[in-house]
Formats: sequence, C-alpha cells, structure tokens
Amino acid sequence: MSNSPASSASSATAYGDEFYQLPQICPPPTQKAVVTFQVTSTLNLAVATIPVRQPLPTEIIVRVCYSGICRSDATFSKGPLPGYPSVDHIAGHEGIGQIVKACDSGLLGRFVGLRYLGSTCRHCEYCLACIPTSCPHQKNAPKQLSGCFQEYLTVETKSVLLIPDEIISRVKQPEILCGALCSGAAALMALRAANLAINKVVVVIGVAGSIGNYTASMAKRIFGAQVIGVDVAWKVEELRRRGFNDYADILLAGPSDEGDTNASNLLKNEILRACGKLRHQHAMTRAADAVIVTASSAAAFQRVESYVCDGGWIVCSGVPYGMQLSISIHDLVERNIHVTGSLMGGPSISLEVMRYICNGQILPMTSFVSLEEIPEQLELIVEGKTFGKVIAKIQEPIDAPFMKQR
Ligand SMILES: [Zn+2]
Ligand SMILES: [Zn+2]
Repeated sequence: MSNSPASSASSATAYGDEFYQLPQICPPPTQKAVVTFQVTSTLNLAVATIPVRQPLPTEIIVRVCYSGICRSDATFSKGPLPGYPSVDHIAGHEGIGQIVKACDSGLLGRFVGLRYLGSTCRHCEYCLACIPTSCPHQKNAPKQLSGCFQEYLTVETKSVLLIPDEIISRVKQPEILCGALCSGAAALMALRAANLAINKVVVVIGVAGSIGNYTASMAKRIFGAQVIGVDVAWKVEELRRRGFNDYADILLAGPSDEGDTNASNLLKNEILRACGKLRHQHAMTRAADAVIVTASSAAAFQRVESYVCDGGWIVCSGVPYGMQLSISIHDLVERNIHVTGSLMGGPSISLEVMRYICNGQILPMTSFVSLEEIPEQLELIVEGKTFGKVIAKIQEPIDAPFMKQR
C-alpha cells in the first residue's frame, strides 16, 4: 500500500501489515477515560488514566472528539447485564472522532461515528429483513466493542460508521451530530413505525428528553405532522421559556409519578381538547393518530391507549427496564390499536438524521459538558434532571481541509 501525503508509516506489525498515522497526531501511550472498573448494581464510574490499546490489522485508532450521553449508558454500566463486561467497562455509543491510525492510509483524518450497533453479519434472516438490531452476530458498543467515553478508541474498522465529508463540511459544530448516532436514529425509526403522514396528530411523550426532542422536531419539520409535546411540568416550563415552536404545536404537562391516575386522566382530557383544536374539529372528538413514548419512566407509559384514536399507533421507544406495558385486550381488538416498539436501526438511519441536522431542517436541543463531567451527568440523566441531549466535548478535531471554518 502506498503512503498518502497526509500520513506517515509506522513500523510493521507482527502480522506484517503496515500501519499509517497522521503526522501531526501520534496516539499517546495513555489516555483519559471514564471507566467502571467493577460493574455493580449502582453507578460506579470514575475518570482514570488508562493505556491506549495498540490496534490489530483489522482495527483502527479513533481520536474521539465528542460523545453524546444516553440513558442506556447508565443501564449498561450497572449489573453487570448479560453480555456486557463486568470489569473495566467503558460506556458511550454516540461518539464522533477522527481516524488517526490505520492500515489503510486513505482512512486517516476521516470522521467516523461509533454506534451501539457496531457491525452485523449482513446475511442472516434479520439482516436481510432490515432488522439489523436483531442480528445474532452483531457486535455492540459497549459489549464486544469498547465505548467512546475515552480519548483514543481502538476499534474494528468495520464497526465504525464513516461519516461522509459532505456532512462534516456543512456543519459548523460537528458535535451536534452525535445524537443522530443513537437517540436521533431511534426517533426516526419510531416516527416511521408510527405510520405518520402530513397533518396527522402525534403525541410525543418525553418531548424535552434525549430521544423526544429529535422525535418531535422531525415529526414537525420532516413529516409535517402536528405535535402535542408532553413532559414533566418543569421541562414543559423550561421549553416554553426557551421557545417550543421547532418541537411542538401544543405543550402539555404529564404525570411524573407512577400510579398517579388522576394526572393520566387529566392528560387524556387535555390531549382530546388539543386534538380538537389542531384538527379544527367541532363535532367528533378523536384522540391523536399516534403516541410515541420516548421517556424512560414508568409514569410515561400509563394509559397510553387512551391518548390515541381508534386505528391509532402506540410506539414505545424509551425503555423503563423491568416494566410491563399494560393495555386492555378489548381496547386493542375493538379499537384496532397498533402497539409496536422500535430501536435505532442501521447506520443509514443515522446518516439521514445527520443530513436533516446539517441542512438546518431540525435543531437538536443540546447542552455540552466535559469528559470529566460524564459520571455526574449520567446520574442526572437517571434522575430525569437533564434537558435534551447532553454531549461531552472530549477534544477539538484536527483541522481537515473539508471542514467548515469555525
Ligand atoms: Zn445478521
Ligand atoms: Zn443510546
């Protein structure tokens, strides 16, 4: 393989393969990372200095610039859950960085994304049916693959998503693309599952949350739907204060406690009124065409069947672990209600969301923290105290000629 002008060859490996690395960045022997050294039933993350692992010929080193923080990072960091590491666990599955060491010199400097779904076999029944998240041979961050809460990620080349230069070149802050790797992709999958069309009314529960803000903004701006955004009272107030036009037509406060049936009944009546207003209906009262539950609290899933009209769709995207969804079978049959769940889909879904962001069609609600703040932020996410998508800025990218002047 010939050396590209932007790269310099390092020594050959024991396998006889030559590695190339960017001349201006030499991966250091150690790095900062957020690690759970011993996974227990409670969150136990620490900022630590750990070695940068040298790659195999099938691997690359990614200099991680940014990483979104997902609620599931907290779930994966406890347990240990089956299939997840019980020691030296590094979470993070919304990472964006640049390749700084690889056997293919053409990859150097390229921006990549790290998703929960790293690689799949691409030939099993599930892969062929476009349900790659059910592939029995999939590799996930952070199961078989290390997560991106670290400065230098050594990872299989085939498990990263190469982000096209035309996307990076059109966005002023590449960090706002992070959420498209998981939360935004989950949002787009949920919207497709909800059978949305222009002017239909959709209730987005958890509108100011990690997945909910992408769901609501794409429902409005991409699908042309009318959105009733629901969240706990303080988030609704905060969204009103910031301006909610990009996310919802009507905002409503929902129940925050599981078992608060009064609040659920109140919300049902408010949703009915809001639907009438959005549809300019006077005669027939009909609930929403779809409800997408993006929140992860048990309270968010209460009585969801009463928020949709007959023939409507209930899509579950948030996952309160250990909870059952309870819906009357009579309602399901007599009212023709569809209930479905959806995950984040394959890499093309993330690229589609990135394009909506870089074209300015949607504006994610984001806030930024440092790598050192990730453990505290995860605690806050679990407690439901964060707003929108939280993104850790880990290090500035290396300038690439195609990047927008910042
Ligand atoms: Zn497969
Ligand atoms: Zn996620």
